[in-house]
Amino acid sequence: MTDNKTPGKNLANDIRNYLLCLKEIGIEELPIQKPKVKSRKSEDRPGFLALTLESIREELGDCKRCKLHKQRTNIVFGVGNPDASLVFVGEGPGEDEDLQGEPFVGKAGRLLTRIIEAMGLERKDVYICNVVKCRPPGNRNPEPDEIAACRPFLEKQIDAIKPKIIVALGTHAAQTLLNTTEKITALRGKFCRYRDGIRIMPTFHPSYLLRNEGKKKEVWEDMKTVMKALERKSTVDSP
Ligand code: SF4
Repeated sequence: MTDNKTPGKNLANDIRNYLLCLKEIGIEELPIQKPKVKSRKSEDRPGFLALTLESIREELGDCKRCKLHKQRTNIVFGVGNPDASLVFVGEGPGEDEDLQGEPFVGKAGRLLTRIIEAMGLERKDVYICNVVKCRPPGNRNPEPDEIAACRPFLEKQIDAIKPKIIVALGTHAAQTLLNTTEKITALRGKFCRYRDGIRIMPTFHPSYLLRNEGKKKEVWEDMKTVMKALERKSTVDSP
């Protein structure tokens, strides 16, 4: 007869009897499977949508969030390694970039490529993008409302890539990322904190270097500081 008042005692007796039975037929050990420990990574939580460059580009769509959409040929989203430790951010696409849909492919872009290669890297190792994704007419500076409209997408790109270091190329990139009105001449050469441990190195824009050859030396000093932080060695003395 089952004792309903002590169900725990009955269960223990049943298990004990069962184990004695097993022992009698020669089974002395029971195989025990380790319970699977569920990962608590945010990606595994219900409802979490991983932020990827593809999903950000999809969200951007055929963007008309600011007036720069009117004259663009292509949205210049960004290129490179989605897991890059190093990201270069410029101001906005120029004519060549607008036509090809890729950042830094004109004359200034070729100089940036030489700088990257002098750092012992290739374009595919880093990620390259701009503050605004559409060409400002006549290569004028991007205006505050245009930067404000496009900035969330730059921030999402950085969140998705999670680089160690961002090189901010020129005044607008540095001012946007650092939320400051300081000029690039005052900002360059020193690491500044961005967020989540990411550091920013502001330096001169390659198109400025094309007009001011003498400033290349300063940019190369800045890149050497970046390489040191990334624990990389250059194979050349300068780009
Ligand atoms: S610059 Fe940015 S916000 Fe403006 S239209 Fe182009 S993608 Fe959209």
